Amino acid sequence: MTYQETVWDEEPRLRSYTLANFRDIPQIAAMPEERQFEMEVVGNVLPFKANNYVIERLIDWSVPDDSMFVLTFPQRGMLLPHHYKQMASVLERGGDRQEVSETANQIRLQLNPHPAGQMELNVPQLGDGTRLYGMQHKYKETCLFFPSQSQTCHAYCSFCFRWPQFVGMDEMKFAMREGEQLVQYVREHPEISDVLFTGGDPMIMKARMFAAYADALLDADLPNLRTIRIGTKALSYWPYKFLTDQDSEEMLDVFRRITRKGVHLAIMAHFNHLTELSTGAVREAIRVVRGTGAQIRTQSPLLRHINDDSEMWARMWHKQVQMGCIPYYMFAVRDTGAQHYFGVPLVRAHHIFREAYKRVSGLGRTVRGPSMSATPGKVQIDGTPTINGKKVMQLRFLQGRNPDWVQRPFFAEYDEDAIWLDDLKPAFGESFFFEQEMQERYGAALGK
Ligand SMILES: *Cc1c(COP(=O)(O)O)cnc(C)c1O
Repeated sequence: MTYQETVWDEEPRLRSYTLANFRDIPQIAAMPEERQFEMEVVGNVLPFKANNYVIERLIDWSVPDDSMFVLTFPQRGMLLPHHYKQMASVLERGGDRQEVSETANQIRLQLNPHPAGQMELNVPQLGDGTRLYGMQHKYKETCLFFPSQSQTCHAYCSFCFRWPQFVGMDEMKFAMREGEQLVQYVREHPEISDVLFTGGDPMIMKARMFAAYADALLDADLPNLRTIRIGTKALSYWPYKFLTDQDSEEMLDVFRRITRKGVHLAIMAHFNHLTELSTGAVREAIRVVRGTGAQIRTQSPLLRHINDDSEMWARMWHKQVQMGCIPYYMFAVRDTGAQHYFGVPLVRAHHIFREAYKRVSGLGRTVRGPSMSATPGKVQIDGTPTINGKKVMQLRFLQGRNPDWVQRPFFAEYDEDAIWLDDLKPAFGESFFFEQEMQERYGAALGK
């Protein structure tokens, strides 16, 4: 792998690629037809979108199966063999649009499109009973807000757990058009200190649109609002959003308004690979964003085929700290979409985390993980100790539906193949300590 630093010397125009025109990309057109067809098969089920920055600056086309290529372009292995065959045979016999889309939806429904009880458990309501499908509220202090204008991204990550939002399965979309309902909800819930803008990518929005939401929050003078977070991959996939796009200065102005008001602005930046941190454009974008008073925290899942390498994580954290970013979360791949392709068993994930963690100074050890965003909460694997002669996995909640669950160690049978919380069995006793309460409080909603 080459991690070459490039300089920022251009003002590029965005060119986007989807399944409709991906064969126009010269490097794709140069690939064997068979390979192009594989991308088409997978791209008809899972979302695909890339742009010229990703293609020209991030992907190393001289390397077969380059990580940035796998991160953004559909690969055959991302579908299970029988799903792959099902879609391939429809395309081979020239099935019409309707048949392709019905087949795609059949497959998608088998890929656990809404993991962790998002639909059943996290959709909040206002005091008057209005359900807010554009919000999620799972952990007391933080509510998620999905502006309807941020239901896409500059490019799609092939592992993305929000993939159903991008494939036109409308009933699976979280989106909200109105900032007033957000304000009202935060006002009705004094326990909320953080509003997290998410999507898609809120930084796909024009500055004017984002300003409307942010200013609604600021103008409401909500005493409980301490932090506005923005979950974004724009720094990785389109840093020009903050540099040369027409509305870049306007966007930075909104950031300044937030921080001047005394509200913390936390950019939750997704960086999955060292290459994403290596261009002149991303360096400059990080510099100007930090110049507004925002803090940038970084997060990524640990992904097979992309970054399952402790050396890479150590170098990412080093570089992030050097650039003034704060390493925040390493996630386990969620139980949806192409988990079979990207997933790393929890024991190995913990090993990679630890090997990387021990190589960085305390300033990089703000990171936590590997963490599973599971139905009951965020669960971290702490290690694999031997207790009374029995090798186990030690776990704890970093976040819980019940805050009282947080930071209590609990133990599972040692299992080198387990990839998710559901695969684990209690090491001592009949059940994990939180299971009975989960069942009592949420069993009916989850249909279990
Ligand atoms: C991760 C997450 C949050 C934020 O958790 P922090 O630990 O405060 O960063 C909020 N809501 C949901 C649903 C999450 O998955």
